Amino acid sequence: MKNLLPVCSAGSLPKPAWLAQPETLWSPWKLEGEALVEGKQDALLLSLQDQLRAGVDIVSDGEQSRQHFVTTFIEHLSGVDFENRKTVRIRNRYDASVPVVVDAVARTKSVFVDDARFLRKHTNQPIKWALPGPMTMIDTLYDAHYQSREKLAWEFAGILNQEAKELEAAGVDIIQFDEPAFNVFFDEVNDWGIAALERAIEGLKCETAVHICYGYGIKANTDWKKTLGAEWRQYEAVFPKLQQSNIDLISLECHNSRVPMELIELLRGKKVMVGAIDVANNAIETPEEVANTLRKALQFVDADKLYPCTNCGMAPLSRQIASGKLAALSAGAQIVRDELGR
Ligand SMILES: [Zn+2]
Repeated sequence: MKNLLPVCSAGSLPKPAWLAQPETLWSPWKLEGEALVEGKQDALLLSLQDQLRAGVDIVSDGEQSRQHFVTTFIEHLSGVDFENRKTVRIRNRYDASVPVVVDAVARTKSVFVDDARFLRKHTNQPIKWALPGPMTMIDTLYDAHYQSREKLAWEFAGILNQEAKELEAAGVDIIQFDEPAFNVFFDEVNDWGIAALERAIEGLKCETAVHICYGYGIKANTDWKKTLGAEWRQYEAVFPKLQQSNIDLISLECHNSRVPMELIELLRGKKVMVGAIDVANNAIETPEEVANTLRKALQFVDADKLYPCTNCGMAPLSRQIASGKLAALSAGAQIVRDELGR
């Protein structure tokens, strides 16, 4: 039964203290030049070992090769000015100083392909690679060139498609797009957001995923969550169209969130990465808690389509706690796997 309920994580994992300030989101690098290149590779191998030790089935680079899940990608593109930044409101929630689109955007070189090849060389496990989604990218920029969110998203979708095709050729099994913006801009998601995502995956033969969460456990997000009321029904607005889309897997926040589990029924037929680990606190879930979340999800997801996962990335947590949470996730998945096997 080992191939049922393959365990994975949604995104980032903590970085070693010698590479970047620990327990800090988007922490700047401590190394430079060649030392940074080597340091990132060493950290990737450590993260891989941690995941394997914890029993993770679908492994990743733990996002050791990027500082920020969106801007590290954008840094590799032309047409974007990182010097003269502007302050914008991100996901209607918090202000951030962001780069400015000043010209037509283009990908002049690959972004993560070497890192993906490096990971592929070091494991035979299936690997998942995360890219930012087009809508979340435009929401992390000031656009002084296209002056149309839709047009810019479409340009990014084409660029992401180039990168995704090279990642697939490098041996990536699942390409995941991080789209927390899908939880905020419902009309745009339905008008063109999902279409842009489908443009990003056009022609791919590997599997594809979209991660839609309520964000990292940072204050702006936890404050926002407090305003969402007793039931979080945001997913309801976008699931029907996602169910119809070509995306294979949907990654969701389920544990300790107020998302009514039955909303997942709207995705029936899709593979679902069920977030059974809360990334916004330091309490390590018990395997039984994880199993409970998975059992509830099994009412709405067929067993062969359920992927036990974390709610979001764990970069802001300590390495010890993140490892503990991953191990609990695997142990909880094993409990449910045993039950299904009986
Ligand atoms: Zn997330």
